[in-house]
Amino acid sequence: MAEPVNETIFGRILRGEIPCDQVYADAQCLAFRDVQPQAPVHILVIPREPVVNLAEARQEHGPLLGHLLLVAAQVARQEGLEGFRTVINSGAEAGQTVFHLHVHVIGGRPLAWPPG
Ligand code: AMP
Repeated sequence: MAEPVNETIFGRILRGEIPCDQVYADAQCLAFRDVQPQAPVHILVIPREPVVNLAEARQEHGPLLGHLLLVAAQVARQEGLEGFRTVINSGAEAGQTVFHLHVHVIGGRPLAWPPG
């Protein structure tokens, strides 16, 4: 049986059970550095509400999703990035490994396109 979403590693970070390198927090979300950075700057922005992924998001999550993207841009600015990439992997086939919605903010080096 799939584990409840609040039992993901990000749920544990949100509950303060395991540490993170926090760069931003507010009432709706938390942003922290990825433990396996794929670029000089690699930050994850996660909602406090345990939404599984974008595919599971509902109409009522619209304002929250907008907020996560605005925070992604804010942390990119905070990190001094001129250009950056935001990635939301949704589903195992797309590379999602933690089933608590998160926005990757990646930058600090030239980024190739298309992604792998
Ligand atoms: P995804 O593959 O899109 O689900 O992304 C999950 C990301 O979470 C990966 O880039 C991992 O390196 C990152 N990650 C996993 N555990 C932690 C952790 N404890 N602290 C920070 N980042 C983590």
